[in-house]
Amino acid sequence: MWPEGASAAAAFTFDFDAEEVWIGEDPANAGRPGVLSQGTYGAKVAVPEILALLARHAVRATFFVPGRVAERHPGRVREIVAAGHELAHHGYTHTSPSALSRPEEEAELARGLEVLRAFGTPVTGYRSPSWDLSPHTLDLLAEHGLAYSSNLMDDVRPYRIPGRPLVEVPISWVLDDAAHFWFDGASWTKSIATTDSVRSIWEAEFLGIRRMGGACVFTMHPQIIGRPGRLGLLDWLLSFVTGHADVWVATAAEIAGRA
Ligand SMILES: [Zn+2]
Repeated sequence: MWPEGASAAAAFTFDFDAEEVWIGEDPANAGRPGVLSQGTYGAKVAVPEILALLARHAVRATFFVPGRVAERHPGRVREIVAAGHELAHHGYTHTSPSALSRPEEEAELARGLEVLRAFGTPVTGYRSPSWDLSPHTLDLLAEHGLAYSSNLMDDVRPYRIPGRPLVEVPISWVLDDAAHFWFDGASWTKSIATTDSVRSIWEAEFLGIRRMGGACVFTMHPQIIGRPGRLGLLDWLLSFVTGHADVWVATAAEIAGRA
């Protein structure tokens, strides 16, 4: 399945949500600068740090970006594209498709594509805000010419979606930084995971997927993985994964192309 005799694959993907994740959660947050600042950190501080780490490890990643984030932070998106990373669709607003009617969902998809394609790079992948698809999403992706989805948890290898000209690049909560680190004003009953605990969870999952010959698709968020203490975890992860000579490190689009 993998090129150059590799036995498994890995992708580093970043959902660049910035302020939109908070607005998508509750539109009233648009008027709350303190809440939005949690997302602004991703654009203002974290993305440059992440780009520097990716460059140092010579890894090309995939950035899933909501259209409105690209409109608010076009300079950051230009930096992502200029560094050779893949740009992919993450909604126009950060609204779950299951909360939208079919026409609303199609408008979001078309508007997001228009905004992202204006950066002059191919946009072939779609990850929904929240990984929550509607009954129409896969049809709409095919109708709008997208090549792959990265939303489902039913495999560890990319596969062709039956009946549609689409590939799925599967993901999992266990490989998502938000599942371990998410914290906000409504989270007082939870503790924030340590980087050591997440390091051991990700190491085990990566080695398990490698043993199965699959694709280990990490999902991270600049505002989460880009906190100063966690950038060290990302640095370690990049070293650890690229240190396995039998693992093909590629973008999500490249992994989709092997299905
Ligand atoms: Zn998101």
